[in-house]
Amino acid sequence: MTNIYLDNNATTAVAPEVFEAMTPFFRDEYFNPSSMYETARPAKQAIDQARLTIARHLGAEHVSEILFTSCATESVNTALFGAVKANPNRRHIITTAVEHPAVVEVCRQLERDGCEVTWLGVDRNGNLNLGEFVRALRPDTLLVAIMHANNETGVVFPIERLSRIVKETDPAILFFCDATQTVTKLPISVTGSTAVDSTSVGNNFRNVDMLAFSGHKFHAPKGIGGLFLRRGTRCRPWMLGGHQESGRRGGTENVPYIVGLAKAFELAAEHHDEDVARMEQLRDRLQAGLLRKIPHLEVNGGDAERMPNTLNIAVHCIEGEGILYQLSELGICASSGSACTSGSLEPSHVLSAMKVPFSAMHGSVRFSLSRDTTEAEIDFVIQEFPEIVARLRRLSPYWDQVNNGPREGGLIQGSGPKTGD
Ligand code: PLP
Repeated sequence: MTNIYLDNNATTAVAPEVFEAMTPFFRDEYFNPSSMYETARPAKQAIDQARLTIARHLGAEHVSEILFTSCATESVNTALFGAVKANPNRRHIITTAVEHPAVVEVCRQLERDGCEVTWLGVDRNGNLNLGEFVRALRPDTLLVAIMHANNETGVVFPIERLSRIVKETDPAILFFCDATQTVTKLPISVTGSTAVDSTSVGNNFRNVDMLAFSGHKFHAPKGIGGLFLRRGTRCRPWMLGGHQESGRRGGTENVPYIVGLAKAFELAAEHHDEDVARMEQLRDRLQAGLLRKIPHLEVNGGDAERMPNTLNIAVHCIEGEGILYQLSELGICASSGSACTSGSLEPSHVLSAMKVPFSAMHGSVRFSLSRDTTEAEIDFVIQEFPEIVARLRRLSPYWDQVNNGPREGGLIQGSGPKTGD
């Protein structure tokens, strides 16, 4: 059966080169890197080398600023709980209404623990209001936690600008960035020294104190992530145990996965510009093809700065689950909402925050591409998707109402057919 994988914001395939780089550390070099004997030395050296590779790719000044974790969720927990523990005199946190559940749930717990959280809203395009952001900063603000790009819509927040404003207002406020969707796709430099600017929002992250990433979003396996923790940042260790990771995260290091993570960074850098340009061109081809063929379709976050690989469309008057099922029958993998929240009937908190109209809220589909996505795959989706939508709309009572004249309240707001065949 065909397999067209367009759900790369959920996870990616492990690159063969990554798998190959990891293999010796399962088979021959299985030793505990903390052991004193000579045979364990390659394992220890492999971790040191991986840390150096990743530090270089993020533009970090000190290798010790890279902390290995099991996933981005753990990195988020480490950063946010650790920051609150280390700074008991401040209790105010600023975040956004569209963060990944990893951040949302930690912030909710911190609220229950006595912190005050300001949840910043977004506009119809998924953008933050800068004035609102500045007004939210207070003398007792401890932490700002804002994602780099949204996993559902791909909308990119101007982290360079936001973090600069924070540090100019009060250098003691910590800035945490969840860069899970952008690391290796958008250039980031935590010292502002190495990254090449390819976005209009900038990539100088020298005012970011903590930054989370996860290997499985860029062709390393699931189960390995990292946290950039700037030297001197007040953050109390959270996972207590052995002295690994300089006492900041107990637990025997996952050597093969750490090696795989570093390899994935190297691979992403090898053909970065071409890969990103091709993903963007294919994403744009998919977007244009669907808009041309399907009436009452809009792009969520379409007018914002977006990740080059993400397309989130709102299909009016049908259910996203129905679309996904039919796509799946054809071997096409996509998602509605984020994988972590799909399965629930609640509309996506991201699309709710963006005030996507009711008639489209449940009919949103996310396609997310990788460097392996081909033009033939995209063309197949452009060919099949309009027929799926047409079929489901024929069964939809909402669609029937739209076609049989306007109803009170208007089912479709603010979006006429873009074009139509
Ligand atoms: N943050 C963002 C923006 C994500 O997209 C994800 C995963 O989808 C996570 C955090 C959690 O990542 P992990 O699965 O590595 O814990």
